[in-house]
Amino acid sequence: MSAQDELQIIDDSVPFYALDLLHSDLIDSFHRSLDDVLRSSAFIGGPMVERFEAIWADFCSVENAIGVANGTDAIELVLRALDIGPGDEVIVPANTFVATASAVVAVGASPCFVDVDPGTLLLQADNVRAAIGPRTAAVLAVHLYGQPVDVVGLRSVTDRLGIPIIEDAAQAHGAELYGRRAGSLGVAATFSFYPGKNLGALGDGGAITTNDPILAERVRVLANHGRGRNHHDHVEIGRNSRLDGLQAAFLLAKLPRLLDENARRRAIAGQYRDALHGLPIEFVTQRHDALSAVHLMVAQVSDRAWFQDQLAQREIGTSVHYPTPCHRQPAFAAYTPGYLPVVERAAGRIVSLPMFPHLSEARIARVIDAVTEVLSNSSGSRGDDGPMITDLRNA
Ligand SMILES: *Cc1c(COP(=O)(O)O)cnc(C)c1O
Repeated sequence: MSAQDELQIIDDSVPFYALDLLHSDLIDSFHRSLDDVLRSSAFIGGPMVERFEAIWADFCSVENAIGVANGTDAIELVLRALDIGPGDEVIVPANTFVATASAVVAVGASPCFVDVDPGTLLLQADNVRAAIGPRTAAVLAVHLYGQPVDVVGLRSVTDRLGIPIIEDAAQAHGAELYGRRAGSLGVAATFSFYPGKNLGALGDGGAITTNDPILAERVRVLANHGRGRNHHDHVEIGRNSRLDGLQAAFLLAKLPRLLDENARRRAIAGQYRDALHGLPIEFVTQRHDALSAVHLMVAQVSDRAWFQDQLAQREIGTSVHYPTPCHRQPAFAAYTPGYLPVVERAAGRIVSLPMFPHLSEARIARVIDAVTEVLSNSSGSRGDDGPMITDLRNA
């Protein structure tokens, strides 16, 4: 095989995600960020973190943003700051990344896993209403795949009971509901800046946003060794969970592009939806009152293993978010709520297609052609309904 042919093959493949493309023309800017931080020696806290916090609060249309070490700590810190702990229950959609539920367990509370809407695969008011009990202390509204949960609908259930809604916005930087940004829709919101998120650092990072000044102050204290106004006063037992200056500087370099990148993601999603319409592949429903950040392009197919294998043979990367719902993970066996039909059916059928802002038109066309070829001949159905998770109702 000639070098030319080899290149052609490399060119033809479509990775599931490509951070190198996202960063390729930012490298000089990252070097300048490093120089700035090195010169200032402000590695933890300091002007870069303060600037990022101010700009992120403004971006989310809230009064306060607090940088923390990662998105999981962000959830844990908000729960602690709300005095949620042993004896309390927190409603969590079973369809989320495990970190949402781990943070609940970390503060000593119990996750109460609930089912989701069959179209959006997001938490919705009816599921929350049915799950509320005397120990319910909060609801974690996870804007999964980048699409905001209908927090307004949830609040029609929770507000009169005084139950706070915390947004897990780790996948929804810049998403909107009724024209309001994710991060401003609940009592507080949490973000992750893991490199693969819509806004990612070059390492771990996270933030909390809130309009509540008391909650903001408490989170700051808890995340910084319980430190009060004076450096050597420790007013409560805290921990160390801080955003570092270098990551704040990298985030400041990347933030100006976020909205254009999200728009590009939505355009790509539109192309996929239009071109694959009518084939046996069912995309997650797009709400008309929301602007999704399209963190992931998730669809359901009837024989996922076969579908992924067919695309892999055509050098197209896919992934699954997430193959095992939280309540079926061994780690959460103690909290299994029984059978959650929507999540459990979806878990065997969901597949994520390549989705990132620097996906070229040629590569989008490659994905569309490949999916069309694979599904046109198959009728998409291989005689069964995909792998089912064992129904434990009678176990
Ligand atoms: C990524 C993610 C988290 C955790 O964020 P980390 O920064 O990795 O700790 C929490 N919830 C959801 C929905 C996520 O996607």
